[in-house]
Amino acid sequence: MSEGAVKKEEKPRKFQAIRGTRDLLPPETALWSRVEQTAHEVFATFGYGEIRPPIFEATELFARGVGGDTDIVSKEMYTFVDRSEKLEPDPSIGSMNVFFQKVRELFKSGEIPTDEQDEAALKIAEDQWKKVDDLLEGGLKSESAGTEIYKLVLFYDALRLGTRVSLRPEATASVCRAYIEHNMQQLPQPVKLYYMGPMFRRERPQKGRYRQFYQIGAEILGGPDAPAIDAELIEMLMTFFDKCGLQGTELSINSIGHAADNCRRDYVAKLKAKLEKVKDKLGADSQRRIETNPLRVLDSKLEHEQPIIATLPRIADNLCDDCKTHYAAVKHELELRGVIYRENWRLVRGLDYYMRTTFEITAQGLGSQNAVCGGGRYDGLVELLGGPPTKGIGFAIGEDRLILSLQESGKAPVAQGRDVYIAWMGENARATAVRAAKTLRNAGFSVELPPVEQKFGKALGQADKLGAKYALILGDNEVTSGEWTLKTLADGTQRKVSEQQLLDSLQKM
Ligand code: AMP
Repeated sequence: MSEGAVKKEEKPRKFQAIRGTRDLLPPETALWSRVEQTAHEVFATFGYGEIRPPIFEATELFARGVGGDTDIVSKEMYTFVDRSEKLEPDPSIGSMNVFFQKVRELFKSGEIPTDEQDEAALKIAEDQWKKVDDLLEGGLKSESAGTEIYKLVLFYDALRLGTRVSLRPEATASVCRAYIEHNMQQLPQPVKLYYMGPMFRRERPQKGRYRQFYQIGAEILGGPDAPAIDAELIEMLMTFFDKCGLQGTELSINSIGHAADNCRRDYVAKLKAKLEKVKDKLGADSQRRIETNPLRVLDSKLEHEQPIIATLPRIADNLCDDCKTHYAAVKHELELRGVIYRENWRLVRGLDYYMRTTFEITAQGLGSQNAVCGGGRYDGLVELLGGPPTKGIGFAIGEDRLILSLQESGKAPVAQGRDVYIAWMGENARATAVRAAKTLRNAGFSVELPPVEQKFGKALGQADKLGAKYALILGDNEVTSGEWTLKTLADGTQRKVSEQQLLDSLQKM
């Protein structure tokens, strides 16, 4: 091999962010911080406290809380086995019997959660190990020894040797889990919580859709289901969007009825019957949903299904009296708060525990992925997760899309320049420059202090490139005379200031 070829081979691999994930960089991150700060401020004025749940949880929590037959749970979760610490990481051939014995014990004590399948899988792996062990004793004479060892590896790999956990695809289930775990029903009700942070779904990436994306969300748990609660939550959202400067927001609302009073069940039955009649005209996805989740057919964006959907029965015409009253009162409460809404009878949430109020907000500049926020009432969820019957309502804002829309409407921040660049030369000036930087930074100015001495010409060029407003020039002369030079970079004017006058002068400029 030639030397050149060796060098090429040794070149280290260049890494890239994984598909669907991305780095958020300055100056864009300044916009993210501003949006998040606005959320902290606005939500606090409505009496919400921040919760920071973990980023991964038991897979089972999401399977129940989001719904096992949703795309999110069935296809899009990042799931892995968090292996029990009580097991050797790499059992050697000599310790296989002991290892399987230990797995059995952990299965039995419940330290590794199991179901029937796990028991069966363990039995298969153990039996396979016995086979391989017999082969080893006989000196591996059998022709099929390789295959048997390969099978052992496969069965062993398929064994679940710990807890199955997933990166969170959303945070509502976590918040409800935390409400139950920390007995928050003992607190004054309702409990109002908000969160922000990354969520993970293995979706097909496109503009406005990522595999790691960020949500800002809030939940109200406990207390009554008074329509004013729904309306105030939406009012808070709209106030937040307004304070962010989001343009072209449109709020759509709907009521999807009530599982307990059966108005939703009756409606779904009616919808299903009608869908069966037009089944042949629907696409494959909608055909499947007639069985799995008929409400979701209303979500369809397929062009040719639109005229058919327009003829379907509407839930608003099928609400029971209680739900009708609740919905009318929510609308009234919104009007009282000056919140403008549009009714969209096709706005549904596919999961059983969602009920009554649902809403969505779209914004401009986002193309097909124009929903910046979705939310709704979910009175059954806490109970479904093992807690007491608890009312609940919440929303999740897609922060990536919110930022994208702000950028599209020209709200992106420009790179933040420094306030002061300290151009220093000479050992005497070094100590003075360090002192000046400390004083300025303490007063809140952003300061660039070059780590090594530079000629003044080069330093001023650098100050320009960094977008600095002022250059503080400190050479031997300045230090000896105590008269420092402060230069305004935009117009090149200079003035002399003493150390005592520096802050005062800058604050007045
Ligand atoms: P959901 O939790 O599905 O109701 O989504 C709430 C909001 O999160 C949506 O309205 C979107 O703004 C945002 N969102 C959901 N999935 C993604 C994704 N893969 N990438 C970016 N934003 C998303």
